[in-house]
Amino acid sequence: MPKATVKDLNVTGKHVIVRVDFNVPHKDGVITDDNRIRAALPTINYLTENGAKVLLMSHLGKIKKEEDKIKNDMGIVAARLQELQSAPVTFVKETRGEALEKAVAEQTEGSIVLMQNTRFEPGETKNDPELSKYWASLGDMFVLDAFGTAHRAHASTVGVSELLPNAAGFLIEKELEVLGQAINDPKRPLIAILGGAKVSSKIGVIENLLKIADKVLIGGGMSYTFAYANGGEVGNSLLEKDQVDLAKKFMEEGKGKLILPVDSVIANDFDNPTEIKVVDTGAIPEGFEGVDIGPKTVELFKKELEGAKTVVWNGPMGVFEKAEFANGTIEICKALAGLEGATTIIGGGDSASAAKNLGYADQFSHISTGGGASLEFMEGKELPGIAAIQDVK
Ligand code: ADP
Ligand code: MG
Repeated sequence: MPKATVKDLNVTGKHVIVRVDFNVPHKDGVITDDNRIRAALPTINYLTENGAKVLLMSHLGKIKKEEDKIKNDMGIVAARLQELQSAPVTFVKETRGEALEKAVAEQTEGSIVLMQNTRFEPGETKNDPELSKYWASLGDMFVLDAFGTAHRAHASTVGVSELLPNAAGFLIEKELEVLGQAINDPKRPLIAILGGAKVSSKIGVIENLLKIADKVLIGGGMSYTFAYANGGEVGNSLLEKDQVDLAKKFMEEGKGKLILPVDSVIANDFDNPTEIKVVDTGAIPEGFEGVDIGPKTVELFKKELEGAKTVVWNGPMGVFEKAEFANGTIEICKALAGLEGATTIIGGGDSASAAKNLGYADQFSHISTGGGASLEFMEGKELPGIAAIQDVK
């Protein structure tokens, strides 16, 4: 059954708690990328335009010691949020207490209160019932729009949600629509491209996509564990020996479906490469490591992608952060950009930054805002934050 969205709630005059993902990158008090704030605006604007009294909650960074609180003060986000939209924003420096309660009580219709970083409360990540109850007491209803945190059962994502009438925001609605369609009812052929650093972090995704995709193309650091499992030499490449049996199992189960690289760009040194060359898969000499898929693999993958109607991509093909090793990832971006009438989806934090940094972001149908969350979604797991949202009646 579809989940309730913010349009299913009667929000006028109501106190609406919205869990957003304002976990923006920032340095020395300056926000370096405000995409996540912008991505939350459709939901925020809908609520203020419809006369809601909006209370925004989000985490920002990791809070392990007291100094982290100074660095991750939500005040910098409040200032940017005010610049980006016209409803008045009141920032409350606390996560509970009189100042917060007063600010909320005094709200007029169409105004916004942004509360301090939820992770200033130790009970947040523990989904503490007392904290959830307290935060829920500040609102009449709850909207979850933080897709990037929807895979975590925290007080502000699940605890509060379970205590109030709730709904998904527009950002989550879009993610569920696009990712849900790709995984549950894809236009075929559905091709999955999986890469990145480690097999171990992608086991669930490989497993699930081998079941549902028509082809699964494997690149990136994880491909060397497969090459090794096939009896190849991988030199100093990234290798997870404890995943070799699993790689064998995937190759056995995925016969005809799982497509592995046939060649590899290798370098003698990751940081200061003086020798870079291309060799066949499984023929990497000692002293060299695989850093990208090779040109024959690029051609092979392009051929496999021809005619694809849905592509989900998680994990770069090489160490794209270095220009010398970015070619495979760039070529995949280009191939996907050239697919006619296909839905192309990026899930995975580093793959998303690869597409952005290499200049291909606007060529994709959808770049998921959730790194870990989109990964878990593609594993076929139900995300706790989404599970807590009521179905449409
Ligand atoms: P995502 O965040 O998209 O899920 P991952 O976190 O799994 O992707 O992996 C991204 C990282 O994998 C990148 O930092 C990239 O440099 C690294 N990587 C890709 N190919 C290799 C390789 N051949 N050797 C080592 N690291 C690699
Ligand atoms: Mg990553």
